[in-house]
Amino acid sequence: MKILVCDKMAEEGLEALARAGFYVDYRPKITPEELLRVVKEYDAIIVRSRTKVTKEVIDAAEKLKVIGRAGVGLDNIDLKAAEERGIKVLNTPEALTNAVAELTIGLMISAARGIHKGHLHLKKGEWIKGELLGTELAGKTLGIIGFGRIGRRVAEIARAFGMKVLIYDIVKPDGKLLEKLGAELVELDDLLKRSDFVTLHVPATESTYHMIDERRLRMMKKTAILINTARGSVVDEKALVKALKEGWIRAAALDVFEEEPPKNEELLALDNVLLTPHIGSQTREAQVMAAVGIAEKVAAALKE
Ligand code: NAD
Repeated sequence: MKILVCDKMAEEGLEALARAGFYVDYRPKITPEELLRVVKEYDAIIVRSRTKVTKEVIDAAEKLKVIGRAGVGLDNIDLKAAEERGIKVLNTPEALTNAVAELTIGLMISAARGIHKGHLHLKKGEWIKGELLGTELAGKTLGIIGFGRIGRRVAEIARAFGMKVLIYDIVKPDGKLLEKLGAELVELDDLLKRSDFVTLHVPATESTYHMIDERRLRMMKKTAILINTARGSVVDEKALVKALKEGWIRAAALDVFEEEPPKNEELLALDNVLLTPHIGSQTREAQVMAAVGIAEKVAAALKE
């Protein structure tokens, strides 16, 4: 059986596929036109986020049984078209959990202490020590919106920093887990009013679209810091710019944007934002785990 790997994939994943006895074509730069032309030869394709598996691609894929996504988001795959053809779609969300959780904590600390500002100014020869009076994480309240894989990992780390953790999720979490983490389950508005740091870990869905809007930004503490490593659509960016300009909250740290790369000049120009280019899962460990994980899942599905 033949597998086409369309995006950049860690060596370890390619080796796992070869070990499982599959013929693998590794074409990390394949164009949409080429993909459309050759896809009919393959039993499985593996992608990350670059390759778009459109209905057209799926219609042209005569033998395709499995689409593997090394990572989490499935927005680049036409799931309806895959389902209609009985093609399995697999992903590896578990591989990215720790990488995103650690970035979240990193952004919290940097936003609270101004690490990024100190670095930038020092490179210009400016010693701005006096302007960088920060705050500590210990003893502060962290509001976690979305208590899934990443939210839970963030809660574990935050506990080790001595933070009090508030949780909001539409699904009621296991009581024992809350107890173990010393976390309190609250309503969303209550979480926003009480938290010194608010971090988002919900998926991009209709119910989470602009969940953090003007009304909710206005209920947050003036000293609060908002962290978004989930998806840009969860925050109304226009309202956030207003909140940061007018001091409704102290700062925001964003890894994801409504449009990527972000072109919102007003947002980019603000002094109280810390921005990273969607690097939540960009660690060596997460990439290897995602590659090996998807290789094993695709191999198992093809052998069923
Ligand atoms: P998960 O599915 O394990 O957890 C998501 C949680 O959100 C679930 O507990 C779910 O019940 C909750 N939820 C869903 N809708 C909600 C709503 N309307 N209100 C409150 N809670 C709601 O997902 P995860 O692995 O923890 O990942 C979370 C998100 O992180 C992903 O969906 C993805 O968008 C994002 N992510 C970002 C990066 C990055 O590079 N920055 C990498 C991986 C994942």
